[in-house]
Amino acid sequence: MKKIGVAILGATGSVGQKFLELLAEHPQFEVKELAASEKSAGKKYKEATNWIMQKALPLNFSDMIVKECQPNLKSKIVFSALDASVAGEIEEDFAKAGYIVISNARNHRYDPNVPLIIPEVNSDHLEMIKFQKYGDGAIITNPNCSTIGLVLALKPLHENFVIESVNVVTLQAVSGAGYPGLPSMDIIDNSIPFIGGEEPKMEKEPLKILGRLNTKGQVDFADIVISAQCNRVAVNDGHLECVQVKLKKKPSIEEMINSWINFKAEPQKLNLPSAPKNPIYYFHEEKYPQPKIHRNLEKGMAAAVGRLRECPLFDYKFVVLSHNTVRGAAGGTILIAELLHAKGYLPDE
Ligand code: NAP
Repeated sequence: MKKIGVAILGATGSVGQKFLELLAEHPQFEVKELAASEKSAGKKYKEATNWIMQKALPLNFSDMIVKECQPNLKSKIVFSALDASVAGEIEEDFAKAGYIVISNARNHRYDPNVPLIIPEVNSDHLEMIKFQKYGDGAIITNPNCSTIGLVLALKPLHENFVIESVNVVTLQAVSGAGYPGLPSMDIIDNSIPFIGGEEPKMEKEPLKILGRLNTKGQVDFADIVISAQCNRVAVNDGHLECVQVKLKKKPSIEEMINSWINFKAEPQKLNLPSAPKNPIYYFHEEKYPQPKIHRNLEKGMAAAVGRLRECPLFDYKFVVLSHNTVRGAAGGTILIAELLHAKGYLPDE
């Protein structure tokens, strides 16, 4: 099968590198262009980036010349891993010029006709693209990394028992702050009870993702109250989240667990290349899930849930873990692109 050419904007950063690692042998997409800031443009990729992935830098990328993020690239599909300080304008320029932009940045997540997608949760929201004003171009967004793990765990509960309120406390990995991220003296032997902008994102993004698409191609937000507290901890990859939920119809513990382990959605039915066989795994061992042990479940695309128990304040409490740079960033975005492809939203080249 002929592969579809794609470009990576922000290719030199930590999410950009993860895109390259995951796309190196992708069956449907081939990375043809890499772009980053003026500082990197014109250099060979291996000189512009400080490669921090576990797999060796694929040879076909190392000598590629990094381009500027201008909408004059040949590939019409672009994955954006741009810093939020510049992503808004650059992504819009690309969409206006007819490119399909699938973004990790926060900038366009609340634009009225821009879908905020977790493929297992709200694939129907892709319809919103038809209402965008970009002609052949479009912007599709991937949610915040901690939102994705949370909402994967909430979706089956909301579908079956209707969620009223959620309290969540996160323990987030350092890779979530990009590269080089926090100074080592700030984070070694430490936890930091603040991540700029993270709590408002976790309190609002799930409402759009779990909301209902209306006839104007916009989303009526879900009627759920969420309170979030976000902490940075000395873990490389994998965000752990302690969640409390109040449900309209309180189920049994067994029903809760069954709703997670039986959960399958469109990516699984379509057998998309990056889709995990099971989006959610439940662990009965009291000490699980843990980032070091479970973050790479199904190549980092599945969420691990455990510690479900009664809660004296809400109905239940549990823990969810997901890989922040795979499911929470590059892997989740690639899964969105695979879904777009399967549903006929992408041009062939
Ligand atoms: P990062 O390591 O800081 O990388 C940022 C990228 O943006 C680099 O490639 C950088 O290129 C490029 N860039 C910066 N200024 C630019 C400019 N003026 N013009 C063009 N390119 C420019 O950040 P990251 O962690 O990979 O995150 C990338 C995006 O994904 C952010 O919006 C972030 O919020 C989001 N995100 C991150 C995670 C995560 O777990 N890390 C998860 C979900 C979403 P140079 O190297 O040339 O400066």
